[in-house]
Amino acid sequence: MIDPFGRSISYLRVSVTDRCDFRCVYCMAEDMTFLPKADLLSLEELDRLCSAFVRMGVRKLRLTGGEPLVRRGIMTLIDGLGRHLKTGALDELTLTTNGSQLEKYADGLAAAGVKRINVSLDTLDSDKFTELTRWGKLDKVMAGLKAAKAAGLQVKINAVALRGVNDMEFDDLIAWCGDEGFDLVFIEVMPMGEIGEEARIDQYLPLSMARSQIQRKWTLEETDYKTGGPARYYTVAETGRRLGFITPLTHNFCESCNRVRLTCTGTLYMCLGQNDAADLRAPLRASESDALLEDAIRGAIARKPKGHDFIIDRRHAPAAVPRHMSVTGG
Ligand code: SAM
Ligand code: SF4
Repeated sequence: MIDPFGRSISYLRVSVTDRCDFRCVYCMAEDMTFLPKADLLSLEELDRLCSAFVRMGVRKLRLTGGEPLVRRGIMTLIDGLGRHLKTGALDELTLTTNGSQLEKYADGLAAAGVKRINVSLDTLDSDKFTELTRWGKLDKVMAGLKAAKAAGLQVKINAVALRGVNDMEFDDLIAWCGDEGFDLVFIEVMPMGEIGEEARIDQYLPLSMARSQIQRKWTLEETDYKTGGPARYYTVAETGRRLGFITPLTHNFCESCNRVRLTCTGTLYMCLGQNDAADLRAPLRASESDALLEDAIRGAIARKPKGHDFIIDRRHAPAAVPRHMSVTGG
């Protein structure tokens, strides 16, 4: 699948549910309205959709959400998709999780062929963690991380950089990831979904500033390490672990975008920061053959836009796109 700008689309991210057992302040409002369960694709339909993408050239699948591990029966889908790893049609099956259910699922994930996972964790302070996630418990996530390590999963920690909230903890997070053997990626907060926009401007911390702060204590060595994602990576000389920065706002990475995103209702977003989308549920349900579905996928890729237009400032107060990150999964 090649888009109009010559980019090869080899990475599909799938939000398997919009629900979550946390309510992170930058991601969701406290009183979220979720999709009616009847609107969701079944696990079989998700498998069929993902498998169509794999057949058409996707080499990497990431399950996300909402919280992917709160979707009932999720291991059926993950085990099923694992077959594409065995045939060699897929290079990688992975997920992004808040870690709350990892203690239960880590072994199963490893058995299904998952090698690496991303775990979101913005602070090591348990009170602050509960404040930030509103409903989360740090102990549970730590137990999940321990289980992931024991199961042999490689872990990358995702931390959203929040001014005045966790910026004083960057050094601790780097040191802790070094001790645990985790890579770490800092993410700039993105303007997605209504959460109260004054809050967003206050949260926004340009990572160029964060990096200068970090370099006062740590030696960041340039690397050309790439994961097929948008992060720019360094090696922290003192710990030997990688440190990445995802900077959608201060640095636009759209030129090398290789991905599209599918929601749990079968809507395909060709760009995280644009509203154009293609409905794949109708062609999926219209016929048992995948011909209509494949046509719809090709039509969607042919409309992939050049890039996003995220801006956070007071003149552009409303969210750039109205949907929350939990819909398209980040
Ligand atoms: N629940 C899972 C988790 O938290 O890892 C997967 C879904 S979550 C939407 C995926 C990632 O998006 C998380 O790392 C989260 O921190 C990040 N995220 C959520 N809202 C964001 C925002 N407004 N700006 C930047 N990152 C955001
Ligand atoms: Fe849930 Fe992940 Fe959003 Fe937090 S960032 S509310 S864990 S979906």
